[in-house]
Amino acid sequence: MMQHTSDDLWRDFPKTATEFEARFATEEDCRAYWIKARWGGQPACARCNSRRVWTIRKGTTFECAECGHQTSLTSGTLLEKTTKPLKTWFRAVFEISTRRTGISAKDLQRIMGFGSYKTAWTWLHKLRAAMVRPQREQLGPFVQMDEALVGGKGGPHKELVLVAAEANGRVRFAHADNNDEGTLKAFANGQVAAQASVVTDGHAGYNNESLGKRPHDAVVQTKAERRENDAVQSCHWTISLLKRWLIGTHAGAVRDKHLQAYLDEFAFRHNRRKTNGVGRIAARVIEQLVLHKPLTMRKLIDETRRCRWFRSAQTAA
Ligand SMILES: [Zn+2]
Repeated sequence: MMQHTSDDLWRDFPKTATEFEARFATEEDCRAYWIKARWGGQPACARCNSRRVWTIRKGTTFECAECGHQTSLTSGTLLEKTTKPLKTWFRAVFEISTRRTGISAKDLQRIMGFGSYKTAWTWLHKLRAAMVRPQREQLGPFVQMDEALVGGKGGPHKELVLVAAEANGRVRFAHADNNDEGTLKAFANGQVAAQASVVTDGHAGYNNESLGKRPHDAVVQTKAERRENDAVQSCHWTISLLKRWLIGTHAGAVRDKHLQAYLDEFAFRHNRRKTNGVGRIAARVIEQLVLHKPLTMRKLIDETRRCRWFRSAQTAA
């Protein structure tokens, strides 16, 4: 049985570098926190779920007193098979959580003193994966939807991004191949509550077919009208912040096939912009490192440019 103790754990998470150094001074400190996040304090056997376990291999593994199965601290999590101490991972989590706008692989490499860029890149992708909650609540009750073209700095190639935004609230993005009815429908069904009221511009793809029974306002505006009172202002505002972030933090160097992961990180940060507290964000990331299935290097590299939501929307339908 997985314990969900994040509400307590974030209160316990350090908010400053000094607090961090004190709280997670040793590998044992990090392990204790990890065990709290993963098992609520007392490790359980991965095979028979017994809590009668012995600590072996310097505390990195538990052997079950009932069935003899050995469960490692990180097996079955995003950190499976890591060769680095938890302390190093916690430091990385802290670094990405304290920076409002995130961090590039190059910066992480420098800060952590990693020998290779590839290591830093892999770590960032795992941490980014931890920034997406598996079962996120759909947006509502008032949602704007729009699309934008996002591209690398100076590059001629642009990628289509769908955006759904609550007025002054949460956002979701999807990297999409096109903005036809079927694609918009999959996006809406994945991210927008079935009862939500939707506002869009005049694009014909937003209709009864794509939006279903949701009340829908298609607002056609001139530039002057939009300047006065933009009907999809939250979308436009979010997109401009997103573009600035991609260029500012990542120097526009985002590959097409990884764009969705970056969109997810941006949404994670954006949706927590009013949550002041490094602790809450860092604790959430560690909780997700625990809950998320392992992600191999192969999987990271093979990540297709098709968005995850689109695939899951299709299989769910
Ligand atoms: Zn067992």
